[in-house]
Order: sequence, then C-alpha cells, then structure tokens
Amino acid sequence: MEHSVDFIRPHLRARAAGRVALYAGVQINGAPHLGTSVMQTAAFLLAEAARDRFGVPAELRFGALDNAPYETRVCPRTGTQYTRSYHHAVGPARIEELVKRFYGGLFDALSAATGVPYTVETYTQQQQVPVFRAEFLASLASWGLLRWTLAPSSGHVPVSFPCPRCGWLQKHGEGTELLAADAGRARFTAVCLGHGCYEAEVRPDGGTYVGLTTLHRNAVKERLADRDAALPVIVKGADWAGGCRLLDEAFLCFPGSVRPPARVFTPVILSASGAKLSKSLMQEGKADLSPDTPPWMLDATRWEGTAEEYASMLHRLVSLMLSEPRHFERGYTTSEVVRLLGRDGWA
Ligand SMILES: [Zn+2]
Repeated sequence: MEHSVDFIRPHLRARAAGRVALYAGVQINGAPHLGTSVMQTAAFLLAEAARDRFGVPAELRFGALDNAPYETRVCPRTGTQYTRSYHHAVGPARIEELVKRFYGGLFDALSAATGVPYTVETYTQQQQVPVFRAEFLASLASWGLLRWTLAPSSGHVPVSFPCPRCGWLQKHGEGTELLAADAGRARFTAVCLGHGCYEAEVRPDGGTYVGLTTLHRNAVKERLADRDAALPVIVKGADWAGGCRLLDEAFLCFPGSVRPPARVFTPVILSASGAKLSKSLMQEGKADLSPDTPPWMLDATRWEGTAEEYASMLHRLVSLMLSEPRHFERGYTTSEVVRLLGRDGWA
C-alpha cells in the first residue's frame, strides 16, 4: 500500500466507473469535536487524492442526520420511550442553519483548497427519494434473515413511523406491526403516546416518513449508492469498522447480492484512557482528557481563529496522517495531536 486511497482502486477497476462519489456524515445534534472534523477533512483529502491518482472526477456527498432525536418523552405507564426528530421538532430552515453554523466555513475552505465539490443532503430528503423507499421495501422482503444479521443479539430492528398528527414516534418501535408488504408498498400500524394507534403506508412514490435505526439506514443507503453511475466510497471513523462487519453480511441477505461499497476508515481521536471522543462522554463529563487538551478539540465552535485557519490546521494535520498508510490506520490521543501541531509550529 502506497496511499490509503488505493483501497478503492480494485473497486474502480471492477466497475469501470468514470467518477467517484465519497459519502460522509454530518451530525447536527451538537457542535462537532476534533474526531468529526478529522473524518470530514480526510474525506476532502481522499477525494482529492482519488482524482489526482486515478484521473477521475471526485465529489463529496455529506448526509446530515436530521432524524437524530431532538426531544424524548417516556410513557409513565409502560416506560416506552417516544422521540421527536430534529426534522419534526425544528424544521428544515433551522436544520440548514445548524449545518451552515457547524460545518459551512470548514467545508467551503476545504473545497476551495482541494478543488473537490460537495453537497449536503438531509436524511429527510434522502428517505423521500423513490429508490430509497424501493430499497427499504426490498429490505422487508429479506427481513427474516436481515433482522438477525443487523441485530444478532435480539433479531429486533426497530422500524418507526412518526405519528401523522404530532411527529412523535416510538424510539424502539415496540408497537410497530407489519400488516403486509410487497415490492410496491408496505402497511404498518404504530402507536403514539398522545394519539393512540395509527396506520402508516410506505410506497416508492410516497406515503409516510420512514424512520430507520443506524445499521438498517446504512444498509439501505449503501444499496442505493450502488445504483449510482459514480463509484460509491464510504468514509467513516475507524470506530465504525465493527458495524461494517454486520453491514457486509447484510449485503449477502439480499437475493442477487451486490458487492458492498469501498470503505475507507479515518483515524479516531482518543482521550487519555483510549476512549474515543464522543458527545455523550463529554456531556456526562467522563471524557477523561489530558490537561493539555485545548477546549476546541472537544467543541469546534470554541476555536478562536477564523474558519479558514481551522481548515488550514486540519488540512496540515490530516495530510500528515495521510502521508503513510500506517499513520492513517491508527488512532491519535488529543495529547499526541497537540504534540504534532506543536512540531508543525501550530500550538
Ligand atoms: Zn401523535
């Protein structure tokens, strides 16, 4: 291996694709930490490297997870959890504002530096597309096998549909029942805390909002990406590698299964104890960070320079990580990042 982007070369050759599309995620439920910024910067640099090394146009497609829970309620009688998503609670205008605030400056600066174009699409927009809904219906046709692959401990993969009157849904889909499904439509019943039982119908050309949990959503999205003329490349933090083992097996559950997409895993940023930086650990105050960790590594909105300076620092840091595959295929503690930036005359 000369360069970590060479992972995608065999896929490119097998498919004879003339373009590459890299897929990465953006979280809107809180400010990004350094791990998120490293993954996104790596996506730009990998796209640039794919374009330059393979001589094909490369673009970046970000998916914004506006289906993340915004608020939660618990039924006092049964303990069932109900959630309402960012989309249903705050609406598309506020979500666009959040994406711009957390990522706009960084993405624009990296796009200018690499010449890689990018788009941002919300989950809400994705699930409306007929081929997404057709792939969801296809997943139900293989459900007996697929649900045990995606949830090996229980076989329970929640599928939830927001109540048509208030937008709330059952987080774990306990009350969701599949009545009938074929390639053209699926009918379910579901339960709302405030409005009782309701019916939900999914068709390729319309019907209800489809709420899927992480692995199921990624299986549907990756099968959908495979239909595109551009070669799909999935870019994720290395902590996602375990989930991908299940996703790769999920691909085999579909009749006439296609090859899973090319995947590139980016370095994870770790606290002193070796745990990955995560929003929940930081919110609980359990992030266990070394005292030399600057606040902006936990919360990018606390960076004191301009967005261009933030992008430029990340560009240099991730270029260093990408300089050799063995530097890219590893994790970095926040202290080690401080050391690398200092060596580079940055801190
Ligand atoms: Zn309701």
